[in-house]
Amino acid sequence: MDFDLSPEERALQQKARDFAEAHLFPNEMAIEEHGKLPADILANIHRQVLACGFNAINHAREHGGQGFSLFHQMLVNEEFGKATGGIWGAAWQPAIPLKDGTPEQRERYLVPSCRGERFYCFAITEEGAGSDPRRVRTSASRRQGRWVLSGEKWFVTHGDVADFIIVHALAEGDPDKPTLFLVDKERPGIRVKRSPKFMHNYISEHVEFVFDAVELGDEAVLGPVGGGFELTKDWFVEARLKIAAHCVGAAIRATEIANRYAGERIQFGRRIHDFQAIEFMLADMAVEIMAAKSMLYRVAWDLTQSDDRKRAHAMASVVKLHASEMAGRVIDKALQILGGRGYMRENPVERLYRDVRVDRIWEGTSEIQRAIIGGQIKKRGLGLYTGWVGGAA
Ligand SMILES: Cc1cc2nc3c(=O)[nH]c(=O)nc-3n(C[C@H](O)[C@H](O)[C@H](O)COP(=O)(O)OP(=O)(O)OC[C@H]3O[C@@H](n4cnc5c(N)ncnc54)[C@H](O)[C@@H]3O)c2cc1C
Repeated sequence: MDFDLSPEERALQQKARDFAEAHLFPNEMAIEEHGKLPADILANIHRQVLACGFNAINHAREHGGQGFSLFHQMLVNEEFGKATGGIWGAAWQPAIPLKDGTPEQRERYLVPSCRGERFYCFAITEEGAGSDPRRVRTSASRRQGRWVLSGEKWFVTHGDVADFIIVHALAEGDPDKPTLFLVDKERPGIRVKRSPKFMHNYISEHVEFVFDAVELGDEAVLGPVGGGFELTKDWFVEARLKIAAHCVGAAIRATEIANRYAGERIQFGRRIHDFQAIEFMLADMAVEIMAAKSMLYRVAWDLTQSDDRKRAHAMASVVKLHASEMAGRVIDKALQILGGRGYMRENPVERLYRDVRVDRIWEGTSEIQRAIIGGQIKKRGLGLYTGWVGGAA
């Protein structure tokens, strides 16, 4: 068994770290100042993303992506996750269900998305449908051989900058026929109802969309009619792994800042890391990160070896749950070690503290991850989690 990274993997990790330090960290405060990332700065980062080959790392080369394995994506996402304000979103990763489109859909949506010429947002959540997507009411009815889409979607991240929306709706209003639709944002009948403010300042907005009898052809249906939930689950798996990698990166950055400060800050005639209260906090933080990172690397490696979608769904929940809760605990301690300086917005630790809070909510709350894990234990046995790779106890 070899736990070491190959020289190529170390080089990729270093390249991602250098990219974050050169192009993401210096622009973080612009998000704080403007409430989102100004378009000229975003365009500049986009150019760097293309130059460094960090566009569409999650898609195949034949579609214009970088063809990175899940493990290699994780190495990059961990480094990018150290940045605040969701600025990692500037290194775009088009939604994974786009690969399941028809050749025409891939040509129209996926290929230009990989190049950075088109941008998506994914609209599942509604006022009455959050954790329980079966309560979705947005419906696409059949009228004269066309689809007519009506409903409202909430919290749609990147809704302001995207030019197309992947909409999770019910075909014919039937809860057993959840279906994904590719909807160009300029189509008549689509409007932004509201763009509320959230706890974090973020690269883009989380908007509420209204779809008022939006007419679509059959070419707008992504995947099979009624197959939307399976594709949405693939999106959740990828997003949950990405969140876990971001959380590990965020916790490491906060801990490095706190550790450095503790080694320099003098109070009562001593460096504060010589107080056991501080030293023990740093010890707990290091242990928490080591445990979460070990789990993350194992799961990413495991899923890189297998195409088992159900296993991927089961494992993504564990790592998302653990890493997001870990990041909350660790960054809270980092802020405490920094004292008043940790409470200043100019300090990355303050921003990370706000940023990681949503990681316990979006793409399935911690409670929903526990429900998934509990269900998997009943279905597949405890060994899935307590055994080693392959699920053997
Ligand atoms: C900043 C932000 C960005 C987002 N971006 C997007 C996006 O791009 N696209 C999109 O579609 N959605 C997006 N979301 C929505 C997000 O996925 C939902 O907020 C999340 O799934 C929870 O749904 P809810 O907010 O309606 O909470 P609810 O489902 O109402 O849950 C409220 C509470 O009840 C708990 N709960 C619910 N059911 C159970 C249960 N069975 N067992 C135990 N506890 C339960 C929850 O865990 C939570 O604590 C975003 C949300 C935020 C905050």
